[in-house]
Amino acid sequence: MNTLIKVKDIDVSFGAKGQENTTILEDINLEIKIGEFLAILGPSGSGKSTLLRIIAGLIPASKGKVTYLGKDIQGVNPGVAMVFQSFALFPWLTVLENVLVGLEFKKLSKAEKYEKALKVIDIVGLDGFENAYPKELSGGMRQRVGIGRALVSDPDVLLMDEPFSALDVLTAENLRRDLLELWLDKKISTKSIILVTHGIEEAVYMADRAVIISSGPAKVVEDIAIDIPRWRDKKDADFTALVD
Ligand code: ADP
Ligand code: MG
Repeated sequence: MNTLIKVKDIDVSFGAKGQENTTILEDINLEIKIGEFLAILGPSGSGKSTLLRIIAGLIPASKGKVTYLGKDIQGVNPGVAMVFQSFALFPWLTVLENVLVGLEFKKLSKAEKYEKALKVIDIVGLDGFENAYPKELSGGMRQRVGIGRALVSDPDVLLMDEPFSALDVLTAENLRRDLLELWLDKKISTKSIILVTHGIEEAVYMADRAVIISSGPAKVVEDIAIDIPRWRDKKDADFTALVD
């Protein structure tokens, strides 16, 4: 099986007290396969973040289901980790402690957790900043911590919610390139990435497939393959290997 996550017939509606429910997502069907880098594009307020939260199992759907490796997720999806637009770091924790948060629910010894966290800190380019606090770091470095915290749990799928949009142009460009290289060079074990973005250029640069959703309520209106010669040759056979 090479499908990691399947979103099946998902509806999501929210209701304010005393008001009718508003349908945010309607009849969403989506599959993410091993080795895919999927971009999700859509207008502001259309439901992109809601869709990522559904995939992560952080909120319940009104209808439909999400499966991970063929099994319905019950609550939080064990195969994913999230990166947020606003970094969502704990300001009172150091870089190392923030990254360790990503391992909070893993059954590992303290020594194993530290070893994994330190390795990931090095991979995301923050070697030497283990004991720094978020306020001592630039925006780009803070997002590197956010990415490290997500990667440390070795998720099959990385969910990224507009991760570069709070960064200045050059910082965003560096981080996009670095993340893409880590992934293509298999320095991280993450098999697939879902990137929510406003930027069509960003989607074309990073992703090999783009889904466009409309708003009110959100539906998938386009599902487009993006063929990028610039890095296609890096995607070799073991990227699309079958999972047992
Ligand atoms: P996007 O990420 O595409 O900008 P969101 O998924 O954040 O869109 O939001 C889609 C719509 O759902 C918005 O109109 C937002 O106000 C609404 N919404 C999101 N979360 C909730 C919630 N917990 N309760 C009520 N409405 C919500
Ligand atoms: Mg959003």
